[in-house]
Amino acid sequence: MIFSIDVEDWCQSVLDANNPVTDRVYNNTLRLLDLLDEYQHKATFFTLGNVAKKHPDLIKKIAAAGHEVASHGYNHQSIFNLTPSQVKEDVGNSVKLLEDISGKKVIGFRAPDFSIREYLFEWYCEALAENGLKYDSSLFPMKVIKYGIEKEYSLKIFNKYHINEHYLSYMRVGKYKLPFFGGGYFRITPYTITKMLTKNLDHKRAVFYMHPYEIDTNELAAMKEEHGDIPLKWRLSQFIGRNSVEKKLHRVMNDFDFTSFEDQYYSEGSVSIPTNTLSNIDNEQHISENENIAAKTSFS
Ligand SMILES: [Zn+2]
Repeated sequence: MIFSIDVEDWCQSVLDANNPVTDRVYNNTLRLLDLLDEYQHKATFFTLGNVAKKHPDLIKKIAAAGHEVASHGYNHQSIFNLTPSQVKEDVGNSVKLLEDISGKKVIGFRAPDFSIREYLFEWYCEALAENGLKYDSSLFPMKVIKYGIEKEYSLKIFNKYHINEHYLSYMRVGKYKLPFFGGGYFRITPYTITKMLTKNLDHKRAVFYMHPYEIDTNELAAMKEEHGDIPLKWRLSQFIGRNSVEKKLHRVMNDFDFTSFEDQYYSEGSVSIPTNTLSNIDNEQHISENENIAAKTSFS
């Protein structure tokens, strides 16, 4: 299984893009590094350029521990809010900075907030390819308020630019797909249920995802003190279940073998890369666009 972490600072990436990056992301990521070390797992750290700029030492520590440093863009701006040239610049700036600091080639990308739409595929893939990236892990298989694509789509454009797409793991609930393996879904679901649901996953291909702030149980109080009352939608979708995350991480790391995208697919002796299928639904039943639902809340 792949363990992936989107390295960002909550008050900058979610609360307000104009907030400065704080030390919380540094300290929380160090805690995750310790956890991974305890269980001898490797992970992919999709890191924001602004975090690397503020904490270059953190990038060095991630790379020195043998993990993969990949890009999550520079300022956590949604792809659909940027022009094609801005996307190229944002991806390029983050990749260059991460490579300069880590001393290693960056080959992977995850779009902020999984902000990919089908109409963006062409110039999104072009931006990744031009910056020397080999894979992407941004396709979120359920439509929620902020992000996700549920309809069937073609990955022909990804193939054209030789970008491998490693979309997030999901389970079937009737005709819908639930990306249960990470983020808010992991926080709110009892671990025994999460573990039971993983039985249906292709374990080699499965992708777990989380953010460093999800283990930060003191953040809400600190944010209230610093920024005033935090809107209810954020308190519900972003802070709920944080108390349980560290305990669950011990269990998930004990139960499964985790590695990085790089070690799994792109290093010598790694398993073969799954080819991009023509749609996001593999061999499963067709879901038409008019059957889509928008979830009532959006976790990330
Ligand atoms: Zn993010």
